[in-house]
Amino acid sequence: MIQSVAFIGLGAMGYRMAAHLPKNFDQVLVWNRNFSKAEQHATEYGTTAVSLSQAVQADIIFSCLPTSQDVETLIESVEIKSGAIWIDCTSGVPDAGRRLAESLKLKNIDFLDAPVSGQTIGAENATLTFMVGGNTEAFERAYSAMTALGKLIQHVGDSGAGFAVKAINNMLLAVNLWSVAEGFTTLKAHGVNLDAALNCINASSGKSLVTETIFPQRVLSREFPVTFALPLLAKDTGIALDLVHEAKLPAPILSLTQSLIQAANLMAEPNSDFSSAVKLYESWSKITLD
Ligand code: NDP
Repeated sequence: MIQSVAFIGLGAMGYRMAAHLPKNFDQVLVWNRNFSKAEQHATEYGTTAVSLSQAVQADIIFSCLPTSQDVETLIESVEIKSGAIWIDCTSGVPDAGRRLAESLKLKNIDFLDAPVSGQTIGAENATLTFMVGGNTEAFERAYSAMTALGKLIQHVGDSGAGFAVKAINNMLLAVNLWSVAEGFTTLKAHGVNLDAALNCINASSGKSLVTETIFPQRVLSREFPVTFALPLLAKDTGIALDLVHEAKLPAPILSLTQSLIQAANLMAEPNSDFSSAVKLYESWSKITLD
C-alpha cells in the first residue's frame, strides 16, 4: 500500500511529471535543489515542498536529475526509509544503476532504473514511456506510481537494462536527426520545397518522430524551443557508445553520430535545444533549413 510519494528534481521533466501525483496519491512530497521551484510546485499543484531528508522518507521516491553522478551523490548524502522504492527517471548509466541497486538492497531499499521517453509534452500529458530495469517484485509494487505518469510501463530486464534501452533510444533519435538534416539540406540544394517534401515523407516509409514533429516544429520553424538540452543528448549518445565499446562491437554509424553530436554540442550556444545540433550541418553546407 503506497501512502506517500516523493519527487526529487523538478526540472523540465520532473516539474511536469510530479504535477500528476496529487491526483493519485494523498501525500505527495517534492524537493528541488533550487527550493523556490518546489514551493512554486506546491502552490501550483497542491504538493508539499519538503527538505531532502523528509522527501526520502516516502514509500516511493522518484528522481529525475541530469546524470547518474548527480543521483549517486544525492543518495550518498541521505538516510532513505527502509522498505522504500527509489524510481530513478534520470537517463542514466547502466553501471551506476546496478551499483545503486546493490548498495541500497543492503539497506532494504529497492532501486529501479526507470528512464522515460516522450519529451516534456509526454510528461505534461502523463503519456510517457517508462523503460524499467530491476527487481520484478519492486517493479510490480511501484507499477501504480509509474502509471500515474506514463502510458507504457515496460520492465526490460535486470538493473541497468532500463538505462541501456534509453541510451540506445536516444542514440537512434540522434542518428535520425542528423540524417534528416542531411536529407533535407540535399533537397533544398535541389530547389525542392521543404514543407511539400515533409508532407510526402510523412506519408511514406522515411517518416519518423523527427520528420513528424521535431523538424516542422523546431527546425523548419527556426524556433528550437529548449525543452531537452543538447548537452543531455550528448550525454546519452556517450552512454550508448560506451555500451557498444563494452560489448566490443563495431558500430560505425553510432560512433560517427556520437562524434557529430559531441561536436555540435561544443559549437552550440549555451542553453540550446537538442534540435539545434542540425546547425552544425547548416554551417558546413551554408544552407539554412527553413
Ligand atoms: P533539467 O536540466 O531541466 O532539470 C534538471 C533538474 O535536476 C533540476 O530540477 C535541477 O535542479 C536538478 N539538479 C541538477 N543537478 C543537480 C544536483 N547535482 N543535485 C540535485 N539536483 C540537481 O533536465 P530535464 O528535466 O530536461 O532532464 C532530467 C533527466 O531526464 C535527464 O537525465 C534527461 O536526459 C532526461 N530526459 C529529459 C527529457 C526532456 O525532454 N527534457 C526527456 C526524457 C528524459 P535546479 O532547479 O536546482 O537546477
